[in-house]
Amino acid sequence: MRAFVLEAESMEKKKNKPEKQLHTYQKNDLVTVTIEDVGTEGEGIGKVDGYTLFIKDGVMGDVVEAKIMKAKKSYAYARLEKVLTPSPFRIEPLCQYARVCGGCQLQAVSYEKQLWFKERKVFHDLVRIGGFSAQEIEAVMEPILGMEEPFAYRNKAQYPIGTDKEGKPVAGFYAGRTHSIIANTDCKLGTAVNKEILEAVLDFMEENHIPAYDETLQKGLVRHVLIRCGFTSKEVMVCLVINGKSFPKEKEFTDRLLSLSLGDWKIESICISSNTKNTNVIMGESYEVLYGKGYITDRIGDVAFQISPLSFYQVNPVQTKELYQLALDYANLKGDETVWDLYCGIGTVSLFLAKKAGKVYGVEVIPQAIDNARENAKINGISNAEFFVGKAEEVLPEKYEKEQIRADVIVVDPPRKGCDEACLKTMVRMQPEKIVYISCDPATLARDLKYLCGNGYQLKKVRAVDQFPQTVHVETVCLLSKLNV
Ligand code: SAH
Repeated sequence: MRAFVLEAESMEKKKNKPEKQLHTYQKNDLVTVTIEDVGTEGEGIGKVDGYTLFIKDGVMGDVVEAKIMKAKKSYAYARLEKVLTPSPFRIEPLCQYARVCGGCQLQAVSYEKQLWFKERKVFHDLVRIGGFSAQEIEAVMEPILGMEEPFAYRNKAQYPIGTDKEGKPVAGFYAGRTHSIIANTDCKLGTAVNKEILEAVLDFMEENHIPAYDETLQKGLVRHVLIRCGFTSKEVMVCLVINGKSFPKEKEFTDRLLSLSLGDWKIESICISSNTKNTNVIMGESYEVLYGKGYITDRIGDVAFQISPLSFYQVNPVQTKELYQLALDYANLKGDETVWDLYCGIGTVSLFLAKKAGKVYGVEVIPQAIDNARENAKINGISNAEFFVGKAEEVLPEKYEKEQIRADVIVVDPPRKGCDEACLKTMVRMQPEKIVYISCDPATLARDLKYLCGNGYQLKKVRAVDQFPQTVHVETVCLLSKLNV
């Protein structure tokens, strides 16, 4: 039995009895505190005299000295000053910039403990928000699916380009929530080719006096470098996002990139995307091909996908395959079912399911994603998948009421805010035998499961999947089945 069960039960008992607070602290107070919990952003949580402290970079189990930065009546945000006794789960981060960058909130925590923390988060949210008992969840929850190699898993890198104090072009990441770039071409979550490619781009810019874009002045040319890698095909795409219409010395530039030796990897596509707006959006609205086809191909399982600079594609292909396989296992299709894939993106899940189903209907709000989905169906010779553009909460009721399209299985993979209630309502009315819920936010998942389980469905299986090692994000797949009354 998981330790979470007892923990969750005792939390439920304590819920209505807040701890007595003895003190209120003030800005700049120094406190010694044991980190007892992990917050939603990966921050450490500790208590002194019933007063709650949120301490970024504190690891559960650490005893730390912290300085109060922002004090409220019953809680405060504090800065980690010194680790007095390190937690047994604290490790040396692989990346020297882990703390300033903030992209990897959990890099100082052992991977085993990261998985524990994620599984526990799903567990607690289902109990606290979903209203399930700890015993119920314990009975249906399978162990979290982690990665064997929890680094170098991202197939997409987007590096902002800036200028350092000496006037040299740099690639790196934005420090914290600022817009100043800290130079680092070697993010440990990405593939090793990123560094080679970025350095070649920076050298080329320096040699040819091509300026980086300056956000405040809105001047300069190169804004971002996007690199996408097909993990199964070993194809690489490089796309420069520029503040202008063209890139100088295109031929020399593409030759330079193509002359790089990148081991098994091969650059198959070089593009530029023009973005002249003063915006936080990285990519421009279109792109121009300098070399190759304008897309790379990758496979998830036995389904092939064409990925252009602008298409959405899951960033961790290894775990995506696990995630989809799990959804497919939970759906347990026999071959003649009608399946709906709501929030289908470029149809990745739909096409995975189509091979095992009678008919698949995908619904997605972004028209270009549906274009990709139809194109991807074609490339794979899949003719039993049909796609609709629109909001799931509008398309589903319409197709059900006006055209009486039914469902044996409904798969949903909504964004963080979860499903709209109108969507859940229609799902229940359609009475599918099974619902497979793929979620990137356990809190909204728990809320939606509460609705579905209050309306004729039963939670059969839950499994967390670690799509984003080193970060606080966690994906979950759930199977629900219709209660036979
Ligand atoms: N299943 C896909 C994408 C999941 S991401 C995959 O695995 O690749 C969630 C998707 O839901 C996004 O593509 C987003 O554009 C879409 N979306 C957001 N709100 C929506 C709505 N109300 N109806 C339909 N799709 C929506």
